[in-house]
Amino acid sequence: MKATIDENSGYCYGVVRAVEQADRYLEEHPSLFSLGSIVHNGTEVERLHTKGLEVISYDRMQTLNNETVLIRAHGEPPSTYQLAQERGLTLIDCTCPVVLQLQKKIRKTYLELLPQNGSLLIFGKIGHAEVNGLVGQTDGNARVLESLQDLHTWLAEDPKRLALPIEVFSQTTKDPQQYKTLGEALIRAVEASIGQADHVHIHNTICRQVSSRHPNLQRFAAEHQVILFVSGRESSNGHILCELCKQVNPRTYMIEKTEEIRPEWFQPEDSVGICGATSTPKWQLEQVFSYICTSNFENLVKFK
Ligand code: SF4
Repeated sequence: MKATIDENSGYCYGVVRAVEQADRYLEEHPSLFSLGSIVHNGTEVERLHTKGLEVISYDRMQTLNNETVLIRAHGEPPSTYQLAQERGLTLIDCTCPVVLQLQKKIRKTYLELLPQNGSLLIFGKIGHAEVNGLVGQTDGNARVLESLQDLHTWLAEDPKRLALPIEVFSQTTKDPQQYKTLGEALIRAVEASIGQADHVHIHNTICRQVSSRHPNLQRFAAEHQVILFVSGRESSNGHILCELCKQVNPRTYMIEKTEEIRPEWFQPEDSVGICGATSTPKWQLEQVFSYICTSNFENLVKFK
């Protein structure tokens, strides 16, 4: 059995930047609060926890005074900055520059739409930290669509708004193909309703670090007999990328830790591809690689 690590997997730029800033701070200070998990990866959070990083909720943040709090790459809504100011907190703001730019774009568009009574739609996961930050730019007035079904519900609610401006944005880590399908369905529906759709704008706001991974990852998954997809189970990007692997390779398994690897997944001649989400550190992929290379699965398979 042989194993290969996907060279395009591993942290995206935004996550590298946030983790580096946390590591740097913790080299000089005994502790640091992080509002939410700095990365959707339990193993990495545990590593940082041993260095002094404490993950806190909004409720806990409301009780802090004059402490230092890290804002993760997903970004935050304006209300969080307001709270930090009220509590005298120092922020280490690790909002990814790509997300920051998207927040600004949404804010500007929202203010332009207001006098025109237009709609601002966000394709994303309800409750996801990045989406909360984006919705915050619209004072809570954006409509979040998780699926085509949500779009159809929105379309049916008030057909009059189809004649007014409609601006659509996507969470940075969504699947580009699904976003394209949703945008096309919206344009078709508006054209069918009022004859044209010039006032509908679908903004391409999926992060390039994510969209470029999709075709590369599927190619990689197709080249191997078994895929070990290493990701935290709470990572929405992890689930999307793992699903892409499964489409071309049904022998794809999502794991968080080497302990979850089962010998019955493998045959002696298999080539195993190891890849992960934008929140999976390279060291974790290397750990899985070493585990595969040093485990005597052939014996285990015999005795299963
Ligand atoms: S996926 Fe893209 S936008 Fe999101 S944190 Fe990573 S680099 Fe930034």
